[in-house]
Amino acid sequence: MLINNDTIIKDTDPLIRTKSEPVPLPLSKEDEDLLRQMHQYVVDSTDEEKAEKFNLRPSVGISAIQLGIPKQLTAIVIDDYDKEGNPIRHEFMLANPKIVSSSVQQAYLESGEGCLSVAEEHEGHVVRAARVKVRAYDLITNQYIEIRARGYLAIVLQHELDHFKGVLFYDHINKDDPFKEIPGALVI
Ligand SMILES: [Zn+2]
Repeated sequence: MLINNDTIIKDTDPLIRTKSEPVPLPLSKEDEDLLRQMHQYVVDSTDEEKAEKFNLRPSVGISAIQLGIPKQLTAIVIDDYDKEGNPIRHEFMLANPKIVSSSVQQAYLESGEGCLSVAEEHEGHVVRAARVKVRAYDLITNQYIEIRARGYLAIVLQHELDHFKGVLFYDHINKDDPFKEIPGALVI
């Protein structure tokens, strides 16, 4: 499957609002190939040369419904820093991920969110849980895993898992007051 900025479906296509179904495990060859290609897209998308050459939009995650396939598959690659300030890469190829718990504390990205399926900018606080615990099958490590995520990773996981419900980031922006103060929220 060719994955680029032309083949990724946009929010102008009602398909993006489709709910995604869990996939059978162990993964079929077809689902495994799809997940690997999605992961490759995310990796290549942050390589300036490849992005330019192959029409890739830089991203940290992609979900299968963005290719028009309503399956609970998502690939995430994030270069971040740990608590001590050392560079760390969070990299997952997840099947059937589920949020099993969320913090009461909320969080949002100071610069707002973007999405491969959203061409326009939507400004405002995209309010989410500051921490989430996610259980999933992960194809990178080939096992069931539990991710205790905070900060940017927690935001990205919630963004991608929202795609399974047909929810887009701007659905979380307060329409009347996009930059409304969120008491106690973690600003990332
Ligand atoms: Zn998205």
